[in-house]
Amino acid sequence: MRNDCKIAGRASGFVELRQQLNPRLLCDAMLGSLCRWLRFFGLDCEFAGVEADDAEVGARAEAEGRWLLTADRELAGRGPRTMLVRSLDLEDQLVEVLSRLRLEVRSDLEHSRCSHCNGLLVEQGRDDVADDVPPYVLKTAERFKRCGSCSRIFWPGTHGESILARMQRVVARLG
Ligand SMILES: [Zn+2]
Repeated sequence: MRNDCKIAGRASGFVELRQQLNPRLLCDAMLGSLCRWLRFFGLDCEFAGVEADDAEVGARAEAEGRWLLTADRELAGRGPRTMLVRSLDLEDQLVEVLSRLRLEVRSDLEHSRCSHCNGLLVEQGRDDVADDVPPYVLKTAERFKRCGSCSRIFWPGTHGESILARMQRVVARLG
């Protein structure tokens, strides 16, 4: 029994190390949904915004050391660390990106980032969030996390079951 625990502990430590080695990403203006979903998977993924032009997007990816994900063939041809996302369906896009870049992800939201701003989420005690969540949530939610950048608070119910179900479908397709 003790040995089993040790092995399991080692295995999960290895997965977490691989997750830390995932490259940082930047999604272009056409891939806003994909960007948000990559954050659910815990990936450091910035959104270029709708106002930046191609040159600005490319320069930002290079300056920040990010892989540029784009649906624009011309933009994809500009640099070595760019990936043309061919799929149109969101779930297909996720499978495409995660498998092509060999990203290490989990399907349980455990290391997710803030889906709104890409900030890191910090575990919070009930007292820490008492003034910031509805009374019913404060009473019933089991855990809370706060975004270190925009201060939004997340709890298990924030993300519907459909999000987890989609994450599990995507990870299952990675094989
Ligand atoms: Zn945030």
